[in-house]
Amino acid sequence: MSRYDVDMFVIGAGSGGVRAARTAAGLGARIAIAEQRYLGGTCVNVGCVPKKLLVYASHFSEAFRAAAGFGWQVSPATFNWQTLIANKNAEIKRLNAVYRKLLTDSGVTLYEQRATLADAHTVAIAGQHITAERILIATGGWPTVPAIAGREHIITSNEVFFLDALPDQITIVGGGYIAVEFAGIFNGLGVDTTLIYRGDLFLRGFDTEVRQFLQQEMTKQGVTLRFNTTITAIEKDQHQLIARLADGSQHKSDLFLYATGRHPNTADIGLQAAGVAADEQGAIIVNADYQTNIPSIYALGDVTSRINLTPVAIAEGTALANKLFNQESSTVDYRDIPTCVFSQPAIGTVGLTEQQALAEYDEIAVFHSRFRPLKHTLSGSQEQAFLKLIIDKATDNVIGAHMVGDDAGEIIQGLAIAIKAGASKATFDATIGIHPTAAEEFVSMRTPAS
Ligand code: NDP
Repeated sequence: MSRYDVDMFVIGAGSGGVRAARTAAGLGARIAIAEQRYLGGTCVNVGCVPKKLLVYASHFSEAFRAAAGFGWQVSPATFNWQTLIANKNAEIKRLNAVYRKLLTDSGVTLYEQRATLADAHTVAIAGQHITAERILIATGGWPTVPAIAGREHIITSNEVFFLDALPDQITIVGGGYIAVEFAGIFNGLGVDTTLIYRGDLFLRGFDTEVRQFLQQEMTKQGVTLRFNTTITAIEKDQHQLIARLADGSQHKSDLFLYATGRHPNTADIGLQAAGVAADEQGAIIVNADYQTNIPSIYALGDVTSRINLTPVAIAEGTALANKLFNQESSTVDYRDIPTCVFSQPAIGTVGLTEQQALAEYDEIAVFHSRFRPLKHTLSGSQEQAFLKLIIDKATDNVIGAHMVGDDAGEIIQGLAIAIKAGASKATFDATIGIHPTAAEEFVSMRTPAS
């Protein structure tokens, strides 16, 4: 009989924590999990899932505009934000219940309360102490907002999903995933949208041509992009918010959404009490087995601030549970992780950017395709798509695939399997295309651009 109350106590019921808890319970371990806010964490409640629903909502305006070219007469369409948010909230509530049931059905003891570390084997929760052979910290991340005067006037991705009304104007600050995704959402919903980014070009870390292409497409769609600009303070007058910019000018807007990164959610969870080491940003430091400097305490997902993506946290949760309770040495392969920015148009990417490939390989070949998708020959839209492949010349292996265009995430997910399997450019070339699609261009690029 174990001397601990449970075999593992998981703090945080987001993507990684829930997967680790369910997998471990399925392997016969006695598992408890605590969640202080919402089941499913950021992804389900204020991240991936509601964001994608809002992306779908915003695409309708383009579809209504395109309809006339295909013979449809659509009477002026109207949009009701409150209906969208109510329907979205109902769906998230349903998902919360699904998560609750998944946990309890798999035998996990669920505490919907805040838990903190008391020591290396003890969790404090609702005035009681629960001992655990192992503790897993999976508390995720939280939006970071710079310390500017007037920060009380701004909102973050935590609040944007619950706005009472759609603003006439929005200003989005930041140049990462969340900023470009919400710029597309609000622009599509008819809001006068400005994106302010402190650097030369948004989406640092993505392929430079992909970033430039998205810049052109978003500008065509009417988003005002202001790069090399920072806000030093925000004030409120009777009607609007007024931002003071570093160059001394002013910028007025109804709403300021800050998407300036996220930090690990480790404040006051008892890291010191248990002696768990974190870096200066608060990210918990773990080894390749997700183990902290305290051998009985583990951490995974965004709280370790490595690759902050839901599917990565899920893979880590599965790997850890299998390792601890099934003696399986499954590890997560962090190479070639595909990702999609649900901008409009979307970016799908897997493998290396051209810049990374040039730094890592002696000789590379780059293939491009830039074209007007068939749909837009009748829709009237000037939107284009961009596809890019990067090849290691020594092996002929495809080491990077990038796309900006409709369904980029769906398409790149498929290509990611080919790249993971080590597909060569010759294999791409030998693959018959599906006609007419945008994706067929990936198997039709014959002449290198460089
Ligand atoms: P990111 O880290 O992607 O981007 C943060 C942006 O804010 C960068 O452009 C950064 O600029 C800028 N920034 C940081 N600090 C400041 C500051 N003080 N003043 C002005 N600008 C600043 O964060 P996000 O918030 O967009 O997203 C967080 C994470 O969530 C992502 O990295 C991603 O891992 C995940 N995510 C994934 C999604 C998906 O898979 N589709 C969707 C949404 C989020 P600079 O580049 O100059 O540093």
